[in-house]
Amino acid sequence: MISGGTLTADKAKDECGIVGVYNLEPTSDRSVTPFIPSALLDLQHRGQLAAGMTCFDPGRPHLLLTHKDTGSVREVFRLAHVAKAKAIVEEHSGVAAIGHVRYATSGRDQIEYAQPFERHHSRTFKWFSLGFNGNLANYSQLRDHLTKVRGYHMVHDVDTEILLHHVAHALRGESKPVLVDAFRELTQSLDGAYNIIFLNADGDLVAARDPMGFRPLCFGVRDGLFAVASESVALRNMGIEEITDVEPGQMVRVDYETRTVHLERYAEPCGHHHCFFEWVYFAHGSSVMEGRTVYDARWRLGEHLAQSEVEQMDENCVVVAVPDTAKPIGDAFAFSLRIPSLEGIVRNRYVGRTFIEGGERAQKVRSKYTLLPSVTGGKRVFLVEDSLVRSTTLRDLVKRTRDEGQASEVHVRIGAPPVIAPCFYGIDMSTLGELFAPAWLTKGYTQQDLDRVSREMATQLEADSLRYLLVKDVAPCIGLPHKDLCTACVSADYPSTAGESIYQAERTNGRHRTVGRAYDGVLADVPPMAGH
Ligand code: SF4
Repeated sequence: MISGGTLTADKAKDECGIVGVYNLEPTSDRSVTPFIPSALLDLQHRGQLAAGMTCFDPGRPHLLLTHKDTGSVREVFRLAHVAKAKAIVEEHSGVAAIGHVRYATSGRDQIEYAQPFERHHSRTFKWFSLGFNGNLANYSQLRDHLTKVRGYHMVHDVDTEILLHHVAHALRGESKPVLVDAFRELTQSLDGAYNIIFLNADGDLVAARDPMGFRPLCFGVRDGLFAVASESVALRNMGIEEITDVEPGQMVRVDYETRTVHLERYAEPCGHHHCFFEWVYFAHGSSVMEGRTVYDARWRLGEHLAQSEVEQMDENCVVVAVPDTAKPIGDAFAFSLRIPSLEGIVRNRYVGRTFIEGGERAQKVRSKYTLLPSVTGGKRVFLVEDSLVRSTTLRDLVKRTRDEGQASEVHVRIGAPPVIAPCFYGIDMSTLGELFAPAWLTKGYTQQDLDRVSREMATQLEADSLRYLLVKDVAPCIGLPHKDLCTACVSADYPSTAGESIYQAERTNGRHRTVGRAYDGVLADVPPMAGH
């Protein structure tokens, strides 16, 4: 869901991606800015609404300089126009730079919501810029505290602005605080997912991962170049081979004077709750998180799906994965069952932002995919998708596979468990009413319950059958213990107090709400530090 937009896409979207780059050679003023657009391109799948960067140059009156806009990285950095792209990079040169790609679960798709958010101040340690990946579950409580108790004014009313004010508050006073202490103060009040990239006018760069570790963050060094990013794919493409995960509650800091990298703990970890959907769908297929490669996890999800298959396979069966992220799941499913995996649905890669801007929805969904009857005609098609959050697009694809693709049967297979509860940690599915599965399944359902209702769910999708994975299948496929993963949206077991409180309020009040976010006004009784 895009606030202020017109289209609710079927699949959930991640909220953002962050990156930071630093020249570690004290005697060199080599600019690292050219790395930012290419790193953001590597993270483009984490957000296509807006992009931006802030760069630090101690030899320039504007110590920090920010460039940002709405649009893809290609559009914002004018990458199709060599001279303009070069001018942007040269104008914003710096020995340190941070970047951001945005997908909104809150706020609109206008330039003032693009990140990084820069806060100008005449004291250099209070002049900073930050980017944010996540979602503050206790957003409404934090906003009320800022505006009613501390007297702050909210211009944009989004999580990043709340973070901006909290960081500014942590930097109050006449003398510069130790940054690890300032970030420690943040944890006193925040609940949710909040990976932060921060750069100040003293040249301090900080990348912090929240104490519950919902979103990925990693860093590495190569030949005097430091880089930190949401996903390893961005670092690998800078030639960095040795990549280290930032642990929950840790921050990695680069000091300008010494050009040294420090890994520091600013908060005690509150367990480890890495979002399992990062492996299933959100992250880049080549990324490695917690030592587990995304592609490998997707392959094992497909193998698990195949193990639980009950349909008889014959030479008339074909697997068609919904492009693109379901491809490894579909391939593994087909490989295990010894049936072909073919491209029966071709995705138009250039629909891009047009797809999420205004206009007639059905036509846009239609133009995103083209069916190939030469592949699916007369076949028993196993349509493999990585997730089923809502249902509109998948129902349309099932119908088109039958009508345009001329399939004789269409069986839907989902490489994840049913999404039965909203996400309050940075994924755009924050209301119960927008989800497909809760009409049939609630917390604690069994395999028998799922088998019983899947016939009805398949009918709703106009499919011949529907099968999901179970929650217990997820952790073995990823290769991490179940306790180290957040599975709240498929289990309704929320790892933080604010998440649990919003869920209960949503069950009581919000079942029919399908837009916006569920947070407003439901957390008055949740104490600060909830869940920490
Ligand atoms: S609720 Fe679901 S989508 Fe949200 S962080 Fe947890 S696993 Fe990820």
